Amino acid sequence: MDNSKIKILIADDSPTVVEMIRFILEEKGYTTVVAADGVEAINRVYQEKPDLILLDILMPKMNGYQVCRLLKGNKDTAFIPVIMLAASEQKSDEFWGIATGADEFFTKDLAMTQLAGTIEKILKIKPYLDRQAPSRPFKKKEISSEEILSRVNNLLDKKLFESTVINEISKIASSIYDYEETAKSILILLSRIVYYEVGALLIEEVGEKKLSMLLNAEVNADVVKKISKKMIDEINKEKPQEKRKLGSFKTKIFNEEYQKESATKKLKAFFSVTLKARGGIIGILALASSKESSFSKENLDTLTLMADQISMVINNVCLYQKINYLSITDGLTELYNYRYFQDMLKREFERARRYEFYLSLIMIDIDHFKKVNDSYGHQQGDIILRELGIRFKKEVRERLDTPVRYGGEEFAFILPNTGKKGAFVVADRIRERIAEYKFPGRDKPLRITLSLGVASYPAKGIEKFADLVKKADEALYRSKQEGRNKVSVYEEKK
Ligand code: GH3
Ligand code: MG
Ligand code: MG
Repeated sequence: MDNSKIKILIADDSPTVVEMIRFILEEKGYTTVVAADGVEAINRVYQEKPDLILLDILMPKMNGYQVCRLLKGNKDTAFIPVIMLAASEQKSDEFWGIATGADEFFTKDLAMTQLAGTIEKILKIKPYLDRQAPSRPFKKKEISSEEILSRVNNLLDKKLFESTVINEISKIASSIYDYEETAKSILILLSRIVYYEVGALLIEEVGEKKLSMLLNAEVNADVVKKISKKMIDEINKEKPQEKRKLGSFKTKIFNEEYQKESATKKLKAFFSVTLKARGGIIGILALASSKESSFSKENLDTLTLMADQISMVINNVCLYQKINYLSITDGLTELYNYRYFQDMLKREFERARRYEFYLSLIMIDIDHFKKVNDSYGHQQGDIILRELGIRFKKEVRERLDTPVRYGGEEFAFILPNTGKKGAFVVADRIRERIAEYKFPGRDKPLRITLSLGVASYPAKGIEKFADLVKKADEALYRSKQEGRNKVSVYEEKK
């Protein structure tokens, strides 16, 4: 093979090392060029256009890390492979060298003869690297030391800016465990970096094929449609077999200080980027601005860089929420489970005691449920339990009262700020509605009735949260004894 067409730049300030490397390379037939310091190395690159660079870390004027960063940060030179030369084996040198973009790392105190092998290895991937080279001709030029230093400064400043931004995103990740809060914080952080009026995060909720859009401001339906259509298109591009259509999705606007005029402004510039994790698309981040210049080239670079971090953060928070949801939810009815019930009741009981609020508990048991199973099968029983879960959710003040599956065919409702009379009204309404409800059955609709027990705090005999459960349970037992399809209330003894 004719190696003489392959030009290798040796940048090292030690003449002995240079001579040694030269000897090795020329023996293999390579053409060599030499630079004795960092600034000269940069200039040699621009004048000689080498095929490969051997870069010493410790050099006068500018060290190898800085040279490498500069070369790898510029499109014209980024594709030229760089092998860093370290004086001795230091893990941190290698870490930092690779972080600056070097392709390989070589320790000079190792057998120098291995260098030829390393070079051959890198040259094998060179055709691949060359494909990333810009197609325009490489201009040979002389660059002054001042210009090189100013480029280094700009580059360092840019890197510092980027790592500061990434650090801010990580801070959000480590302090917030809720998707909506995370999304809000991300949109706020973005607004500190680029100007925009409308920010939207559209995600596919974990485990659901439903999209959920979070907006920082109210916008007209067209914008919402535009963003969601883009998301569907991206998903369909990735998984054509799913043929996803633009269905209904939740939209939520979080900006309370939303100003009317921002919604009426004509949006002129749009930016969107897909968020990827778990080997697929998890969402879309979209920004829109009334200023045409909002998403400049520089801003786009920053936004694209941020997109990776944002994807990771959002993916984590969604998974966290999913795991959390699964651990407190009953799979059949999708109501909260016993574990959640315990925590919630403890918390609410403490709150009621401290602030002297009322707190009520309703315990519920299905009447003769065994008969349903025996007559129609266990599966039919499950259908009724699931349907009951849906009914129960409809019966309560959303976000205030908490229906739970206590176990088997037993349920409970925690009603904060609700006294005995109020709880009885709720319980009796549930009893009545369920008794009237036609549950889906195989041949004909089925009916069930419930027995309920109510206990309320404050009351004599209820000192701790477990007393509330015990007294509500006793009341429920009374309902059963007195003929079922009934509500009984714990009455404190006078
Ligand atoms: P009572 O009116 O006295 O409450 O009578 P009951 O038949 O409802 O009471 P019992 O406690 O004897 O039986 C409860 C039945 O609920 C027995 C059990 O098979 C059924 N059950 C509990 N959990 C489930 C479930 O997840 N799915 C189904 N299909 N049945 C369940
Ligand atoms: Mg039971
Ligand atoms: Mg029962």
